Amino acid sequence: MSRRLIVMKFGGTSVGNAARFRQCANIISKAARHDRVVVVVSAVAGVTDLIFKTIDAARRGDPETTHMHMEKFASVHRELVTSLFSAEQRTDAHDYVTKVLTQLQSACHALSALRSDISAQTADSLAALGERISAWVLARYLQQSGSKAEFVAAESVIHTDSNFGNASPEMGATRRNCAQVLLPILEQDAVPVVAGYSGANAQGKTTTLGRGGSDYSATIIGAATRADEVWIWTDVDGVLTADPRICPDAVTLPEISFDEAIELAYYGAKVIHPKAAYPAAEAGFPVWIKNSFRPEVTGTKITHAAKPANSPVKSVTSVKEAALITLVTRRDVHPVDLWGRLFLRLGQEQIEVLFATQSSPEHALGLVLRKEDAERVLKLIDTIFRIELAQGVLRPVAMNHEIAVVAVLGESMKGTCGILGRVFSAVARREISVIAVAQGASELSICFAVAASSGAEVVRAVHQEFCGQPAVKVPVSLPANLSAATGAQ
Ligand code: ADP
Ligand code: ASP
Ligand code: MG
Repeated sequence: MSRRLIVMKFGGTSVGNAARFRQCANIISKAARHDRVVVVVSAVAGVTDLIFKTIDAARRGDPETTHMHMEKFASVHRELVTSLFSAEQRTDAHDYVTKVLTQLQSACHALSALRSDISAQTADSLAALGERISAWVLARYLQQSGSKAEFVAAESVIHTDSNFGNASPEMGATRRNCAQVLLPILEQDAVPVVAGYSGANAQGKTTTLGRGGSDYSATIIGAATRADEVWIWTDVDGVLTADPRICPDAVTLPEISFDEAIELAYYGAKVIHPKAAYPAAEAGFPVWIKNSFRPEVTGTKITHAAKPANSPVKSVTSVKEAALITLVTRRDVHPVDLWGRLFLRLGQEQIEVLFATQSSPEHALGLVLRKEDAERVLKLIDTIFRIELAQGVLRPVAMNHEIAVVAVLGESMKGTCGILGRVFSAVARREISVIAVAQGASELSICFAVAASSGAEVVRAVHQEFCGQPAVKVPVSLPANLSAATGAQ
């Protein structure tokens, strides 16, 4: 029987320190005994944030803060390699860290000297550095521990468009790259260790797939190599009925569908990247979410035909920082043309609308967006509707930027009566008012906006209403860095 091909992705906390690297190496070498394994790695936890903070400080011309962040970047990786490698290996590893650090340093020096804004292309070339080091270190550590492994730069595998910061894969070229680069390594019975999160455009320039994009790297590579399964190793037991940081009593779901996973991720469940399910759903292989801190736990299987859970609501999730922009037209105008122009422009600018509400007879439009997009959308509205605003056809735009969006989802909600009533009774019992509501036409989710300060309480209330009884009797293990009692956002 031919051996299965498994793509395994390890997230930031799974490679958070030297002990975590050893654990990953254990998981990989065990799996590689009976399966062919491709590994995809994230940057060490916190490192991508650190890179962005360094860039930001350099751009502002703040040398002390730039230096402080760069020192932190250096010390995190130096401590890691000092702890992982034997004396003979250490020099090489320190040299590699120095080489990457020098790249970050020279770019930041240039930035602060010019006090210019950084181009999206340069930002991506720096943002990808965390994954480059962690993949290199993991490959070297596997070799040192007696496993055959080879570091693979993301740029040589994932081919993308030139949408820096949020690139999309070009699957044809990625497939060819995988055949040329990964298959020969696998044929030698070795494990390719690929840097997650990034790729390269047709000119060979580094691109990134959006924050949290290493999950997406794994499923892109899974689809391109016709993998049997993708396993995403993280710091929780799988996909839970809610974020355990908000609901410590959340339980692991044995199975969810691709559609449910996409919706969950879109509405804030960080456990999987919103786009990661697409390549898997199209190619038809399952994605497993597993806990690298407890590899013996089965985890959650994401698949086309997921079994329903005990409750029609499978999970409750939230976008903690959202904004509501309200547009109102004069009564004597027909606003469909205005809204059409607005949505077209939002699409062109790739701005995601969490949900929209339109009141009868269509004169008011509520747009619920991620908070980080709100200022940009206000500027867009000013530009597109300059004349309408000046003539009073469109009234001054109102914005509430202190809201949270709560989403309640599950495929079995479709056709089940009374879900809306139960959701809003649970919220009303807490005397919290709902600001805006939408139910998707697919009936897969209900989402609504509440004051940001009430977001966590609403998630807990709705979770208690539907998922209060354990779906499976597997105790939830919280991420190691969390206390079960906090329930903080
Ligand atoms: P990684 O670094 O492994 O990519 P992330 O931090 O991106 O991990 O995602 C894992 C985190 O997602 C968990 O620690 C948990 O707090 C959060 N999370 C949010 N919603 C859910 C959910 N429904 N199920 C599981 N985890 C969730
Ligand atoms: N390191 C990247 C981030 O923090 C990608 C990832 O971890 O998936 O966004
Ligand atoms: Mg992640």
